[in-house]
Amino acid sequence: MRIFTFGLATSLVGAVALTGCNNQASNENNDAATEFAAVDTARILETSPGQEWLSYGGGYDEQRHSPLNRITAQNVGELGVAWTYDLATNRGVEATPIVVDGVMYVTSAWSYVYALDARTGEELWVYDPQVDKRVGANACCDVVNRGVGVYQGKVYVGVIDGRLEALDASTGELVWSSITVDQDKPYTITGAPRLVNGLVLIGNGGAELGVRGYVSAYDVNTGDLVWRFYTVPNAEKKPDEAASDTAFQTVGNISWGDDGAWTTDGGGGTVWDSIIYDNVNDQVIFGVGNGSPWNRTVRDPSAGDNLFLSSIVAVDAKTGSYKWHFQTTPGDSWDYTATQSLILAEMPLGENGSPRRVVMQAPKNGFFYVLDAETGEFISGKPFVPMNWAKGLDANGRPVEIPEARYAAAPYMQSPGALGAHNWHPMAYSPDLKLAYIPAQEIPQAYGLDPRWAAKPAKWNTGADFAAGLAVDLPPGTVQFLRASLKGRLIAWDPMTQSPRWTVEHENAWNGGVLSTGGGLVFQGKLNGTFAAYNAATGNRLWTYDLKSGGASGPATYEIDSEQYVTITTGWGSAYALTTGLAYDEKVSPTVGKVVTFKLGGTGVIPDPDITEIERTARAKRFGSPEKLQAGLVHYARNCAVCHGPIAISSGVLPDLRWSDYSGDADAWRAVVNDGVLAESGMISFSDLLTPEDIEAIRAYVVAQAQNAVAEAGN
Ligand code: CA
Repeated sequence: MRIFTFGLATSLVGAVALTGCNNQASNENNDAATEFAAVDTARILETSPGQEWLSYGGGYDEQRHSPLNRITAQNVGELGVAWTYDLATNRGVEATPIVVDGVMYVTSAWSYVYALDARTGEELWVYDPQVDKRVGANACCDVVNRGVGVYQGKVYVGVIDGRLEALDASTGELVWSSITVDQDKPYTITGAPRLVNGLVLIGNGGAELGVRGYVSAYDVNTGDLVWRFYTVPNAEKKPDEAASDTAFQTVGNISWGDDGAWTTDGGGGTVWDSIIYDNVNDQVIFGVGNGSPWNRTVRDPSAGDNLFLSSIVAVDAKTGSYKWHFQTTPGDSWDYTATQSLILAEMPLGENGSPRRVVMQAPKNGFFYVLDAETGEFISGKPFVPMNWAKGLDANGRPVEIPEARYAAAPYMQSPGALGAHNWHPMAYSPDLKLAYIPAQEIPQAYGLDPRWAAKPAKWNTGADFAAGLAVDLPPGTVQFLRASLKGRLIAWDPMTQSPRWTVEHENAWNGGVLSTGGGLVFQGKLNGTFAAYNAATGNRLWTYDLKSGGASGPATYEIDSEQYVTITTGWGSAYALTTGLAYDEKVSPTVGKVVTFKLGGTGVIPDPDITEIERTARAKRFGSPEKLQAGLVHYARNCAVCHGPIAISSGVLPDLRWSDYSGDADAWRAVVNDGVLAESGMISFSDLLTPEDIEAIRAYVVAQAQNAVAEAGN
């Protein structure tokens, strides 16, 4: 592994001097390293996104719209590969790079951090936080990372195991490390830190397994906690001596009952992605995730709204004290997080068409919201996808629910499902065209109350029945039918009229984040590897390129010496690839991830991945009684499906158990699942949840799925 290599540092400092280092930062705490990542709040506000890309969403407004216009509809066809860089991991990659003073800072799976020459892709340094791979079992949605923040000579990364770390931007050496979570609980961090006025902001994930969510602000120089805002009350509804106390005493506590699984499972509400800084109102606005457990029936039998689950919350940037909230999904029961991209913009929505500062979101629940940024007042909201959980929004923006959506034992096939009408893939907004670009999707899901549900500490714990609607032997054609129900589209949405201007249909869901440019283009990747540029005004597709790996992350653009570059990070993985393996027939290769950078006239090539063909034959004859197979289905759905895929179909990120040699050998299978012999590579023991009989029943179910697939393929 290439750690701490300094080969290009000298020439890079030279390049910094030539391009003019805009270092207005306060440097008393820094030394010679300030040539690197000399970023502060003023510089982000004044210059980003422009020639550089200084913050996760481009600038604090997180519009992901760059004014760069050298690449246009007329010449985008000449776009080619400038350089590629091989990341150190072969799991999902969701990072948007930061580009400052000629250096690109980017992350990959397992929270690795890389510094590269932004012009050539040459490596400056790599930082490996040396994560214990067993924490991968806590990651609902792959061991991904969405990127770093940079500030005053340091690079900040949230590590999957809950650490927040500051690195010297010039060397990659660790400056400080703070543990932001109770490491006995299944917290993870996948989101990018945001840097605001000397504070580094970070949230966490883990609501599928059972944690209590919050967002924290740390001192950029020391790593000391400055403020913390919890998103759900503690089980006693007592003050935490945290910034959120007043919010719970005034509006939060009364929205929760005194009993229910939330009092032991933490309640959820993790802030795992969107955190933005509104400099006009000096406030931080963040999106809050789903409840834990998902199903409100077991989480809070009093049927309260459960603040601040599935809400957009604004707090004072200096103190974290509560300013306002808007709850998108009161009493969430469906994993309808409101963690999706938050975008600030000025729109002519004030009196007589005067400018009004708004915040926009297209969360999982399928409604596009426009709120007043200063007050949180609901301005408008409309569905951007077909839905059957709500009929619309009332005058206050509260969903008018369809009663069947409050599922009980009988499953309800619902849209959107838990993967959402829009997930983490960043949305963009063009202030030129006044259009939002939503990476939207349709992934229906059968929700049912799990009659066998009981709290399982630190394990998947939703209270929803993942075996709902399934049987051991499904009719032939079921996989094709399910695959056809998975849809994706890029929607150019007019927030003023709350209607689509144009849409591009994709053949699968889980397509990439969006970049909008002053050249009148929008760029978007797909998880199956196509990277495309569209006319931002019409949706006409102008250019495509095969990335030969998953292209789901948010692209970025920057300019060096009058050359505009467009970068996307690639890799095979993420929540959809893990939980919806049946979406993929032709697999994308789980090869190492890459950073791929394009420029006009680029002549580089992306090498073909090494694809290891797996022999698709069952490793044992079908065995087990109908009762044993049914038990295997239930145990598989509850314990295995979220990583190895429902119906035992994997997309290849993790092994497809049907074609695994372990499935042919009861002793070897038990050694993995019961004894944990593969724990160090992330496959932990399930002996605390499953008996040896349960484990053998799962093997019987997996072998049956293999035999069924072989039989169907042969017909
Ligand atoms: Ca969730």
